[in-house]
Amino acid sequence: MGISVAIDGPAAAGKSTIAKKVAEIKGYTYIDTGAMYRAYTWHCLDRGLDCTNEEQCVAEIPHVNIELKPGGVVLCNGKDITREIRMPIINKNVTPVCQMKPVRLFLVDQQRKMAEKDNVIMDGRDIGTYVLPNAEVKIFQVASPECRAQRRYKENIEKGIPCTYEEILEDVNRRDKADSERAFAPLKPAEDSIHLDTSDMTIEEVVNKVIEIIDSKVK
Ligand code: C5P
Repeated sequence: MGISVAIDGPAAAGKSTIAKKVAEIKGYTYIDTGAMYRAYTWHCLDRGLDCTNEEQCVAEIPHVNIELKPGGVVLCNGKDITREIRMPIINKNVTPVCQMKPVRLFLVDQQRKMAEKDNVIMDGRDIGTYVLPNAEVKIFQVASPECRAQRRYKENIEKGIPCTYEEILEDVNRRDKADSERAFAPLKPAEDSIHLDTSDMTIEEVVNKVIEIIDSKVK
């Protein structure tokens, strides 16, 4: 069993940016669990399914093979969907899909297996509370909704993903509400997590802080 670092928090809080950098510095494997829910959603849409229809979406479990490759590449049944899963249509449809308990159990099982093999830094919503309750380090990373929407807006424009600031703010608030209110494995801080508000911090400051936390917990 390797060392596990869990980073949870609301949408667009910069979890993946920080987790990627910290993983690189510490030599850990980065696991983006949001990308797995996005990939599952992409698959359902690709099959022409209604993402609110649990029976249809759950029936796809045996036909979905998601792989996270180095460099943030995401494959679904061998197809590179790295870019597609960041599109607004996925943001909209991932919410009902990630509320389906069998889909969560299917993906959580894979997440736990990944954490068994390596030292990992895993980001998501339920990592410290449900996926890896025994993680050595648990961080709950937050920032104000406006700050998160502004950062995500900038990131999307740089990547050439069309959007407006207002749309993003609305999407971030909608996803947070749904993630916090869902019955199974909702978004909430683990009791033993460290709260990290990054609203007024630079990326470098957050990375250094997270490394300081890891080094203080993992000897
Ligand atoms: O982290 P990201 O925004 O890419 O995640 C996409 C969606 O997947 C989130 O809006 C959330 O609803 C869901 N998710 C989840 N549990 C996780 C990671 C993501 O429900 N561990």
